[in-house]
Amino acid sequence: MVQLVPSQDQVMDILTRTGAFRQGHFVYPNGQHTPHYFQMPLAFRYYDTAKVLAVALSRLMRKDSDIASRLPKVAIISPSPGGIPVAFGVREALTAEQIYWAEREEGKRMFRQYVNQGEVNPCVIVDDILRSGNALRETVALVSELGANVIGCGTIVRFTSAPSEIDGVEIKSLVNFETKFYDTEEECRECSEGEGKDAPTEHVRF
Ligand SMILES: [Zn+2]
Repeated sequence: MVQLVPSQDQVMDILTRTGAFRQGHFVYPNGQHTPHYFQMPLAFRYYDTAKVLAVALSRLMRKDSDIASRLPKVAIISPSPGGIPVAFGVREALTAEQIYWAEREEGKRMFRQYVNQGEVNPCVIVDDILRSGNALRETVALVSELGANVIGCGTIVRFTSAPSEIDGVEIKSLVNFETKFYDTEEECRECSEGEGKDAPTEHVRF
């Protein structure tokens, strides 16, 4: 069976078309300015694009013999509620047995399903976007506390400023996105003279 993974350009085309990727002039709550903004849930509101993206990511995962050989006894994990649509799509494509999703409660990342030690299969962590890697790092720690191993990590978009591996596990992604952030108004002139020229300033959240 031929298994094709779409190119980075094809994935960016989907993200642009669905409004999940935008160019302009954006300001984050921490004061940083940037000429680009990802709002990944917008790509997952459509059945077709959600399926294409999740299946593509599942194919990257299946190429890894360490993951493929363990299926279906694998747990697909989402570090946060934002990654749930990706996790469900990847689980379906891989026919993986389990799915878990974490969220932060009282400052600590935990699974909504309150699972017990030893109940979690070898884990593949997936998310829609990897910005800093903090959520991923906390999820890896959570999984190890429960006595499970992380055998794979994947994300639709990875900022090139984010880590490329975690605990020796490579982070696979459909898009490696070269990020531009400016800490000050001064430095930002570069972004507002580029794609952001004439764009209204939008205040956005991560
Ligand atoms: Zn600016």
